[in-house]
Amino acid sequence: MKESAHSRRLFREAQKYLPGGVDSPVRAFKAVGGTPPFIVKGQGSRIYDADGNEFIDYVGSWGPLILGHAHPPVVKALKQAVERGTSYGAPTELEITLARMISAAMPSLEMMRLVSSGTEAAMSALRLARAFTKRDKIVKFAGGYHGHADGLLAKGGSGLATLGIPDSPGVPASYARNTLVAPYNNAGAVARLFERYPEEIAAVIVEPVVANMGVVAPHPGFLTGLRDLTSQFGALLIFDEVITGFRLAYGGAQAIYGITPDLTCLGKIIGGGLPVGAYGGRRRIMEMVAPLGPVYQAGTLSGNPLAMTAGIETLKVLRQPGVYQQLEAKSSALAGGIKKAAAEAGISLYIGRVASLLTVFFTAKAVVDYESARQADTKLFARFFQNLLSAGIYWPPSQFEAAFVSTAHTDKDIQLTLGAVKTALSSLG
Ligand SMILES: *Cc1c(COP(=O)(O)O)cnc(C)c1O
Repeated sequence: MKESAHSRRLFREAQKYLPGGVDSPVRAFKAVGGTPPFIVKGQGSRIYDADGNEFIDYVGSWGPLILGHAHPPVVKALKQAVERGTSYGAPTELEITLARMISAAMPSLEMMRLVSSGTEAAMSALRLARAFTKRDKIVKFAGGYHGHADGLLAKGGSGLATLGIPDSPGVPASYARNTLVAPYNNAGAVARLFERYPEEIAAVIVEPVVANMGVVAPHPGFLTGLRDLTSQFGALLIFDEVITGFRLAYGGAQAIYGITPDLTCLGKIIGGGLPVGAYGGRRRIMEMVAPLGPVYQAGTLSGNPLAMTAGIETLKVLRQPGVYQQLEAKSSALAGGIKKAAAEAGISLYIGRVASLLTVFFTAKAVVDYESARQADTKLFARFFQNLLSAGIYWPPSQFEAAFVSTAHTDKDIQLTLGAVKTALSSLG
């Protein structure tokens, strides 16, 4: 068992000033119970809490830390950058460097705008899509998360599912009416929406691989179906690659599945652990963004030099040969080991995995959409999670989130994790 007196004291204190004691809901451990460890340090694959406990971390700040914590070249570049000042509110060459690297990795982003969060990226991409098409409606998928902008919270996946919030209050009904929701992996349902509103849908926004209802891969033909439908009806296809970009492959999901979206949202990895986001796509669309065009969008800290530096250094490591193969080998070993341990313990699991994104669903049936994801046994998951935590494994504290494998996880880390998983699963039976 881990010591937690300091974290418990801090959690009580935090709740006086911050709703739920946190600045982002999932951190509060509501779905799994207990006190979240308060973190004081991260190094490589490990995080350390205020009570001196060490954990092997599979959250990785929810995606950005594909190189692990405090990766030395990133830290070194950041130290040098901070000496030159933290923000200028004026253009820098760093922004060109990062934008050029992103465009080289994902040629569909001919032009882009760098922002400070994934939420901002998705919200701005939709505004742009509506301006470009002169239409108001958008289609999203149940269980897909695109940040917390009004109109994108309908059936918004993990965070809301974890707390049992169907749709957030505070979003005007007049606004939410413009959001149409379809089941993921169901291009037929999207086709019916287009037949019903042939000239009203501005865009379809999709996580090409969903990571926010747990990991769910696209069926063959689903993404192609979306590409065809949007082209046919004059709507834009927006890939939200905030998680999948530079995660599944250097070129993101669009490289793997061979689809060219009109617009792409990025975040997480491209900021190397600092606050960042980006949206971009076809030049003709992006030329509508101010100051070149009339679609307004701005940000005091957009293109922040520290975030640019961390992003550039992270991408430099990721573009070296062999990085994604190593991530795949470790993630596959982890998934395979969990499957084997579950079989031995006589527990039915479904493992959703694409590359280094992985969810252990406590359900016997395949998870293909939000409906099937919600069949998972969240109580069993909570016990699994608590067992892992006491064994020093920091797994995502929700059934509906992805675990993230980083390049800093060693084979030894994977073996240690599998040992803990085996004990955790056998105690559930
Ligand atoms: C995390 C995430 C976002 C929101 O990004 P923030 O930086 O948290 O605002 C949007 N879309 C997807 C797919 C995400 O995973």
